[in-house]
Amino acid sequence: MKKDKKQEFAILKKFVEVYCNHHHGTNGEGLCDQCNDLLAYGNQRLEKCPYDPKPKCKDCETYCYRPKYRQDIKEIMKYSGMHFVKRGRIDWLIEYFAR
Ligand SMILES: [Zn+2]
Repeated sequence: MKKDKKQEFAILKKFVEVYCNHHHGTNGEGLCDQCNDLLAYGNQRLEKCPYDPKPKCKDCETYCYRPKYRQDIKEIMKYSGMHFVKRGRIDWLIEYFAR
């Protein structure tokens, strides 16, 4: 996987982890099946992204996430985004959204 995609996946993973820990009672124990599934799907989408360099997903015209997953990811980004902002970890957000 290319570096920018790898980095994007690492950030996605952090977001999903926070969300899963807080909503699915998996604190410190990895992810639940649902979130593992979502992350695997996100990984697959990243791998298959036809653009190089990859645009920010929110600016992309190709809606490559299936609606169900897209909805879930949106929810996770919103929740975990706030979580990181509150903890002063906006460096991840800036990396993710300002690239
Ligand atoms: Zn979960």
